Amino acid sequence: MSVLSADNRTNRIKQLQSDTFDLLVIGGGITGAGIALDAASRGLKVALIEKKDFASGTSSRSTKLIHGGLRYLKQLDISLVRETGKERAVVHKLAPHLVVPEKMLLPLIEGGTYGRRATSFGLKVYDWLAGVTGDDKRVMLNKEDTLTKEPLLNAKTLKGGGYYAEYRTDDARLTIANIKTASKYGALPCNYVEAKEFMLEDGKVRGVIAHDLIGNQQFVIDAKAVVSATGPWVDTLRKINKSLKGKRLHLSKGVHLVVPYERFPVKQSVYFDVPDGRMIFAIPRGKITYIGTTDTDYHGSIDKVKTELEDVVYIITAVNDTFPSIQLEIEDVQSSWAGLRPLIHEDGKSASQLSRKDEIFEAPNDLVSIAGGKLTGYRKMAERIVNLVLKKFFDKKVKNKTDKITLIGGEFANYEEVLAYQKTIAEKIKDYYLKDVHAEYLVHLYGKQAELVLPQFEKYCYYHTVENALVLAELDFCFENEMVQTPNDFFVRRTGRIYFDINSVQKTKKTVLDIFAKKFDWDLATQNKYAALLEEALQEASVFAHKDLPEKQVQVS
Ligand code: FAD
Repeated sequence: MSVLSADNRTNRIKQLQSDTFDLLVIGGGITGAGIALDAASRGLKVALIEKKDFASGTSSRSTKLIHGGLRYLKQLDISLVRETGKERAVVHKLAPHLVVPEKMLLPLIEGGTYGRRATSFGLKVYDWLAGVTGDDKRVMLNKEDTLTKEPLLNAKTLKGGGYYAEYRTDDARLTIANIKTASKYGALPCNYVEAKEFMLEDGKVRGVIAHDLIGNQQFVIDAKAVVSATGPWVDTLRKINKSLKGKRLHLSKGVHLVVPYERFPVKQSVYFDVPDGRMIFAIPRGKITYIGTTDTDYHGSIDKVKTELEDVVYIITAVNDTFPSIQLEIEDVQSSWAGLRPLIHEDGKSASQLSRKDEIFEAPNDLVSIAGGKLTGYRKMAERIVNLVLKKFFDKKVKNKTDKITLIGGEFANYEEVLAYQKTIAEKIKDYYLKDVHAEYLVHLYGKQAELVLPQFEKYCYYHTVENALVLAELDFCFENEMVQTPNDFFVRRTGRIYFDINSVQKTKKTVLDIFAKKFDWDLATQNKYAALLEEALQEASVFAHKDLPEKQVQVS
């Protein structure tokens, strides 16, 4: 049994109760996962608790780009663009299957945000700050070349384009890859464990009272240092700790829509203007294209963030303005996701004007919190936190080495090796009528660990349809290696199927629910609970309510 096997949960909970940790990380998003890996690899005894599933907060709801953030140049956030721009290549090297090169096309249109000279200069500075070299350097295109790259653009208003390099990832998979690698370095991560209260010793935070949401029990976790990496919930925990003073979070909601690729067949990723002065991405991925994002102030429940009808209308209007032959309709939307940016409030600034820099809050009673930042910059955020923890609590200096720690599954020398491996997998699965797109899917998600999925797949093919066999093989792998506890963990975070292949969820959900029930010996009430939670997730992704008229809903799939 692997350390991260779903069957090993009882042992993990026992260890959380019995050991004293150097560092307890609260929050299993990309920030917490990055901190756990960094701290464990620098010799600290680390535990990480996550109240739902790993990456169930913002870290499964981003645009899934590892990017420098071109638009932050306009806000003159130079240090942020430099750091995240440089990090792109580092994170690509650590997981070349999961952080893949993605060329971006920025069309220049009449009356658009940027003119030709400003774009040319901006992209040049962007490349320079990130140290981009060779073929990856930006190229300015004339109208014809831009149309060749993306024929769906409006020839009437198009003036040309900028063409530059970014990376695309899967945020939830990047988070779980960090969790798995942290565990390899001795960290103890556990999902479905919530920090409820802080434990004080001589007025200092030295642990938490935790609640195991699966075993339904309360216990104490002792730790010399506690870091809250709870993203949008950082202020909730600062409030519990009575240290919510000074700077606060400003939450901004961002929505993405998913449409079938054939309804919006962009040849490549495009970063395009919206009439209100913002810009959004259209990104092709396998069978679908996803589009986003919005950026609106958010005051609702942090635990229930939903795509609303207004968000859908905003995004499809933007697509139809820029790609006039497409004319998307609400019914074309297959799936969607909505997430919250945990930004740092600045008086007088709207959500889209706020800096994306991270901020560390040190409470007088020693609770350390971190919020803000980007998925792209997670490794540097972790480095800053672990430097602080080592100095403040252990009076030590140990060099960070996460820039050299390959994430589990990412054991490739370079991207060419990833592509070659993809071909090998495609060759192996073609006898089962699976296509290149499936090989790409398997390698993107599991990297070298696709090898652990394939034998099970072949076994299941004897008794199931090929599509079902693939889902079941992935499920076996995730039970054994990725602490999957609920059907939603599997369909939303481990495989992204609810976003990128929602039909496959509809087709396999009954079989998957039955397997869960058998594996965890669920009684009928528990089975019904998880079936209802899966239906809720399916509804959240594909049924949109009007903000002011929640009873009026549009079902789209
Ligand atoms: P989260 O992922 O929210 O993690 C916090 C975790 O803490 C949650 O899982 C939560 O359940 C847990 N938690 C809360 N309270 C408790 C408790 N009491 N006990 C235990 N656990 C608890 N960045 C990029 O670099 N590229 C992009 O393309 C990009 N696009 C974005 C698009 C949108 C719409 C949004 C919203 C953000 C985007 N970002 C992007 C930013 C990036 O997604 C976030 O910066 C990042 O995911 C934040 O991660 P986190 O770990 O800090 O927070």
